Amino acid sequence: MILVKGIAASPGIAIGKTLVKKDQKIEIDRKNISEDQVDEELEKLHSALAEAKESLQQLKEQTAEKMGEEKAEIFGAHLMILDDPEVIPAFEDKIKDDKLNAAAAVKDVVDKYAAMFSAMEDEYLRERGSDIKDVGMRVVKILLGVEDISDKLEEEIVIIAEDLTPSDTAQFDTDKVLAFLTKDGSRTSHTAIMARSLGIPAVVGLGSELIEKAEDNIEIIVDGNSGKVYFSPDDSTLEEYKEKLAEYKAEQKRLETYQDKKAKTKDGTEVEVVGNMGNVNDIAPILENGGEGVGLFRTEFLYMDRNQLPTEEEQFKVYKEAAEKMGDKPVIIRTLDVGGDKDLPYLDFPEEMNPFLGYRAIRVCLERDDIFKPQLRAILRASQYGNLKIMFPMISSLEELDEAKLIVEDVKKELKEEGQQFNEDIDIGMMIEIPSAVMIADFLAQEVDFFSIGTNDLIQYTIAVDRTNEKIAPMHTPYHPAVLRLIKMTIEAAHNEGIWVGMCGEAAGDEYLIPYLLGVGLDEFSMSAVSILKTKEILSKWTIEEAKKEAEKILELKSDTAVKSYLKTIEK
Ligand code: PEP
Ligand code: MG
Repeated sequence: MILVKGIAASPGIAIGKTLVKKDQKIEIDRKNISEDQVDEELEKLHSALAEAKESLQQLKEQTAEKMGEEKAEIFGAHLMILDDPEVIPAFEDKIKDDKLNAAAAVKDVVDKYAAMFSAMEDEYLRERGSDIKDVGMRVVKILLGVEDISDKLEEEIVIIAEDLTPSDTAQFDTDKVLAFLTKDGSRTSHTAIMARSLGIPAVVGLGSELIEKAEDNIEIIVDGNSGKVYFSPDDSTLEEYKEKLAEYKAEQKRLETYQDKKAKTKDGTEVEVVGNMGNVNDIAPILENGGEGVGLFRTEFLYMDRNQLPTEEEQFKVYKEAAEKMGDKPVIIRTLDVGGDKDLPYLDFPEEMNPFLGYRAIRVCLERDDIFKPQLRAILRASQYGNLKIMFPMISSLEELDEAKLIVEDVKKELKEEGQQFNEDIDIGMMIEIPSAVMIADFLAQEVDFFSIGTNDLIQYTIAVDRTNEKIAPMHTPYHPAVLRLIKMTIEAAHNEGIWVGMCGEAAGDEYLIPYLLGVGLDEFSMSAVSILKTKEILSKWTIEEAKKEAEKILELKSDTAVKSYLKTIEK
């Protein structure tokens, strides 16, 4: 048995077999072929096309059986591309006329079509561009003999990878993936956040040894609560974890009673418990877990894994869907927060020494009307279909807030002139995630309808600890007395001005911290769907008075370790 310890990034326990996702750098060797090699390359092309068709047909059938015809249609569309009367001759001509090897020929043709389609205004046609790319890469991988991991997901497995991008994570079939393990990452890296929103246990930041030693098909236990990973566990550990898994499942069952209950403290005070989302697929788990709204919609995911900015129309559809699905429950849409660990390659921003301290979030939007205005127009237009609110990220000064609000006013005026419908009284809030904003929270509170504390960044900027660096991950903690004081200061300043305060950083779902947050008066807790029910249960065990008394004691403690130990002693 080998025990490896990483960062517990998404709760839950998994017992299963491993599947290692090696980094697939697809390097195509471009070769100019001679006339007498043409037939050989054409033959390779046709055999790869046949293999691609066969695997797509299989995927289509499997998906239809397990997830329904609608989900399977994506593979139907891919198959049609391989039968298209223009596409195949284009591959062949590239080999024959340009004397290129098959892999390079396919790649060139696919790139050309994908660029042509993705430049189109029509969303449907643009989508076809990415389908062509997907199909093309499937054929190229076959030609190069590179395995496609998503095709290997036949049984339930634990995926091991260097790192997983949010789009990798989103593509996995959540019925098959028991857990994620990654070499890189931290609790607040976006891969970890995605795993939590999918409800899949994850341990990240396991270091390079993991990837070097890992092999397929090894028995493994993943403890997403403690960060422990056991390779080839011995019998007693296996028994212990089988019990823990059963207990975990029983707890999940017990928590179901909170699904339809409004979040309340023991003395009956109502508190809001809401979910964080990155795309519309996250809405169902939030509702299923009893979420009372959305406290943070990270819209940057709409901008990622594509070749150009999403249009106003595309965004409008997504925000409208979120508004409609949530009905009268609030949905707080955060305006674009790129930069830091969220890069948009197509925007071609210059490389920076310190991306987290650089050109990111509202700083980009205030300079780029062409990005900010279409997003604001889309949110405002969608606001007539539900209870949407706007929230600005990374505000560090009153000037930034005023400027952002002025742009909202401009956009409202434009929409009115065009005769478009929208909620003219839409609430506008801002994130508190930079210490400078806390220090002037009294000024800022006069200008907005609400605050939401982003502890992931607030901790990073307060303790000067990179949130993505696993080497210093233990330092990135909400238990640091400075962070606890900043949270209290923010809430006091806001309440003095009569506005409410939420928290949408990961600390809001930290089960030990909840009594403190309640005690200092937090009004709304926004978290990954998986933590909602547990949070409701914990809140139901505390009266406001008890929580206030504990908060006072906690504020006397001088170190994060003292705070952490104390919080564990008061757990109910
Ligand atoms: C935060 O910083 O706490 C936050 C919620 O925003 P993000 O994690 O997307 O930076
Ligand atoms: Mg942030």
